[in-house]
Amino acid sequence: MLLKDRVAIVTGGAGVNGLGFATARMLAAQGATVAILDLASANPTAAAAELGPDHLGVVADITSKQQCDAATESVLGRYGRIDILFNNAGITQPRKTLEISATDYDAVLDVSLRGTLLMSQAVLPVMQRQKGGSIICTSSVSAQRGGGILGGPHYSAAKAGVLGLARAMAREFGADGIRVNCITPGLIATDIIRGKLTEERKEKIAEDIPLARLGRADDIAGAVVFLASDLSSYCTGITLDVNGGMLI
Ligand code: NAD
Repeated sequence: MLLKDRVAIVTGGAGVNGLGFATARMLAAQGATVAILDLASANPTAAAAELGPDHLGVVADITSKQQCDAATESVLGRYGRIDILFNNAGITQPRKTLEISATDYDAVLDVSLRGTLLMSQAVLPVMQRQKGGSIICTSSVSAQRGGGILGGPHYSAAKAGVLGLARAMAREFGADGIRVNCITPGLIATDIIRGKLTEERKEKIAEDIPLARLGRADDIAGAVVFLASDLSSYCTGITLDVNGGMLI
């Protein structure tokens, strides 16, 4: 087992069809104890119970500093350490540039970018005291292509911001033994795209992907387990593309 005795927080991990839950499940299968953090409406307690009694569900809105700090304290209180933070929570909105309102912008940037910063700020001092840890941040192929299939330009901007933030944190905290890396998923079949693309459209998209299919949640989970574990012990500040070759 790659992650025995490690404690992980997965933000946005409660959706059973989402990337967060698939990752939480794979982290647990590798021996980690997992705290699934999500909005109350997503019921993280029920999701954690699906993993087993040793895991924890934590209700928090990651756009709130106070809630990020309180969630981190509750994980520390229960397990005494935090080794892995998967900054996964994010929202998207299909908008064109001229359609983006200030409210839209704030909503998208607040979850992906501010939430990633606030959760990292909560966990970094813990990892510094432990002299080690791994933070994995979720960007997107939308940041690299300058446009998403579903996300608007503000989503691309938020996810590009995550790349910069992760690299800056990697540089700042490397000497503390803390690694910070990013994944850039391509198009993965989760609730974020459910009902938004016709089967015909999905087939058309798959035709342009070298691996000839959309991604699966476990494709992302495997990449996160790699970055969370000592298998990637000399990787920091990297961007791991998990997109079936979409950018070749
Ligand atoms: P999803 O919608 O299934 O899951 C997102 C989760 O985040 C949900 O459980 C939601 O409740 C939670 N969340 C939203 N706002 C929150 C907040 N303020 N505080 C705490 N939790 C909050 O999405 P997914 O497809 O599993 O995507 C996961 C991540 O991967 C997102 O950051 C997304 O942008 C990114 N991503 C997804 C794809 C894809 O094709 N699915 C591609 C590239 C990047």
